[in-house]
This record gives sequence, structure tokens and C-alpha cells, in this order.
Amino acid sequence: MRLFDSLTRTVKEIEPVEPGRVKIYACGPTVYRYVHLGNLRTFLLPDLIRRALEFEGHDVTVVQNITDVGHMTDESSPEAIDKMLLAVEDEGLQPLEIAEKYTQEALHDMELVGIRTPDVMPKATEHIPEMLDLIATLIERGHAYVVDSGSVYYDVGSFPGYGKLSGNTLENLKAGHRDLETDPAKRHHADFALWKAAGPGRLMKWPSPWGDGFPGWHVECSAMSMKYLGDRFDIHTGGNDLKFPHHEDEIAQSEGAVGHPVVSTWTHGGFLRLTGQKIAKSTGNVIRAPELVERGLDPLAFRWLTFEARYRSEMDFTWEGMEAADRRVKQLRRHVAEWGAAAPQLGSAAEAFDVRFRQAVANDLDMPTALRVVNDLDRSGDVPPGEKRVLLASWDRVLGLDLERDARAGWEPDDEVRRLVAERDAARAAKDYATSDRIRDELQAIGLEVMDTSEGTKVRPR
Ligand SMILES: [Zn+2]
Repeated sequence: MRLFDSLTRTVKEIEPVEPGRVKIYACGPTVYRYVHLGNLRTFLLPDLIRRALEFEGHDVTVVQNITDVGHMTDESSPEAIDKMLLAVEDEGLQPLEIAEKYTQEALHDMELVGIRTPDVMPKATEHIPEMLDLIATLIERGHAYVVDSGSVYYDVGSFPGYGKLSGNTLENLKAGHRDLETDPAKRHHADFALWKAAGPGRLMKWPSPWGDGFPGWHVECSAMSMKYLGDRFDIHTGGNDLKFPHHEDEIAQSEGAVGHPVVSTWTHGGFLRLTGQKIAKSTGNVIRAPELVERGLDPLAFRWLTFEARYRSEMDFTWEGMEAADRRVKQLRRHVAEWGAAAPQLGSAAEAFDVRFRQAVANDLDMPTALRVVNDLDRSGDVPPGEKRVLLASWDRVLGLDLERDARAGWEPDDEVRRLVAERDAARAAKDYATSDRIRDELQAIGLEVMDTSEGTKVRPR
């Protein structure tokens, strides 16, 4: 599996630091507002990487954070407005109630578009001690300094690689970058806050060696990624807009603290635009996943829509495109049901399709090509229906479109059947064929067809 690395600007083979397990950190939702389809396109990227790697046989750990404090604005000027505070004013709830509400909404919307729940979803507010440790280390190592107000700034001049991800080197940043940042105590105007002294009226603040305050946004991702994945891990994802300053600052913090590169591959996703504009709260252009459902569209079809473009490209969201994706996914589900039982094995024509699909996915997630393979297979006269079904069921582990939904309709295995299937798979894994055959006979005796597939035992009414 190869992915484009934004740092080296090359396509790299994924070779996990810990053999057999790929570790991914994904910047997650900010929970003072709803996530929109643009956010969901970004969050689909780590999900797709995970699915593609698991499809290749890797084990994968995904950590995706919940930002519930701190970064609401990155400015350190006194005028900077904390958007969490605005939400508190608007909705009459306390900050953690706001955070809890929008966390649940975000998880729900992610589930609607088939994003598998990350293995760990650490909350920034629950990792203040880890952030304080990291900040103390950076001060010790000469990468950060405390100012009179009690804020702590990262000294970008102390980190020679600053700007290597985004191209915003100190040289390039000279010309009036962030004029609004007015704290005269900063050594360089690009120095960013690791810890901010709590001003009057601040609701969320914590004690620290430098006085009461709250963390800067970037420090949470350095602290939480290294806590859960170690100081060398494989893939870090986020939207293109996070390259600077968020990820640039994260690199400076993490590498400044441990003295070596932490992330092997930086993967960034392109924006989703609505009628030519970036979908963002600030423009009022917000479409949420539940709106797809309200319009009678299957939210999983949003996956198909996003697969029509390469993940790094910007893409336009249109309702026509979304409706076409919805029709196509529903049509494929009907076809899968019409193809009938899965074939016990694949012929050479089907194998060739499988190779094409796998190559497309492994090639920096070339999903437009993968969808073409799906369409070609659907139309193909060379592959028997039962084999088409096996292929689509297998590929759906990557696509996540629930393509067997219609085929399953009207019948679901009950707990007893599920138990027998699990026992049979365990027996087969242990090469205990006498037991596996006995369970097969039992399943057949209750009227089920038993199929051996690459994913284990499948059953359906005969
Ligand atoms: Zn982040």
C-alpha cells in the first residue's frame, strides 16, 4: 500500500514501525458545532486508509481526537474570541455540556456515513497533564519560553525544520504574517502559544506551573498522538487546511520534545466545496449527514460520491452528484441480491478483476479507478454471477457501502445461528474439520445454505 506523503511530497510504501500493525492518528472533530459533509470527507480518509490496510491483511490502530478546548481560535491577541464561549452564550449550556452534545452528534454523523469507530477517541480536556508534561519538556529543551502574563510560547527560531511541511518557513513568514497577533512579549511573530494564561471570564481553565490557563490547540495533538501511538508512528491525517499552522506546529512540538521524526507519512485530504466554495460554517454553507437521510438518500452513498475523486483533490458537492451516487449504490445492492448465492471459488476472469481492484486501492487510494473496476465487473459477461457476488462482498470491506443489504433483506441470522457460525469458523481456524463439518450439517439441517468464503462461513436460507 502506497500513500502520498505531504512532507516529502512523494508516494511512499507504508512500512509500519511495529511490524504487522499500522498506527494512524487523525485530527478529529471540534465540538462546539456540528460536523458537516466537508468534515466528514476529511474523516473518511483515515477510515478508508484503515479499511484498505486491513484489506491487505494489516492490523490497524486508529486514534482520532476530540477537540473540546483550546484551539477555538489560535490567536493570542486579547481580542481573540473563543468560539466555545460563543456557543456557551448562544445555547445557555456549560462548555462540557456543549462539548458532549456536539461529540455525540459528530459520532452519530460519522456512523451515518459508515466511518468505523476509531479505536481511541481521546478528549483534549482529559489530557491536560500530558500537555503540561510536554510543555515542560519543551521549555527544558530550549524550544519554549514563559512570558510575564503566564503564557508559554513555542520558539519557532529554535526549531530549524520549521516550515518544512507547509513551506511557511521563517524566511517566508517574514512579510507581515498574522499581523493581528499583538503579544509584544513574543520573540518572533510566528511563535505560537503552547499554554495561554486565562483571561477574565474564562470558563475552562486549569492550574499549571505558569499560572491558571488553558492549552493551545496544537499541543493536544502532539501530546495525545504520542501518548497512544508512541513517539514513532506511521500515518497522520487531516484536512489540507490543517497543514499550517496546526501540523507544522505539531511537528515542531513533537520533534522538539523527542529529538527525532515522529510521523512516517503525513496524509492530507482535499476540501469538499459546495457550489465552488469550501463548505464551512463561516460561509453558512453547511450540509450535515442527517440532511441526506431527510432527503431520502442513503448516507453511505456519500462514500461513493467521495470515491469519485482522488482524496487529495478538491471536489464539488452537488445534489445531482449525490443523487446519482445514491441511485448507483442502490442499483448495485439489487444486482448483488439478483446474483444469488456466492460461488465457492473464483475463476480466472474474476481473479483478474480482483487484482485490478486491489492494485487501485493500494495505489495511493485510487478510488476512481476502483469504482471503474466495480462498474466493469457489474457489466462483465465473463464472470458468473455467484463470483461477482463474492468479489463485491469482499471489496465492500473497503468500500463500506453495505452492498449485500438487499441480498440479506428479509432474513437475518439469529443469535443461535451466529453462535454456530462463529464456532465453525473457530474450528476451521484450528483445523478441527470434524467439528466444522458437524456444525455445517447442523446449519444445513435447519434449512440454511452454508458457504465458505474468504471471510469465513456465510449462511443464507436455502
Ligand atoms: Zn490535530
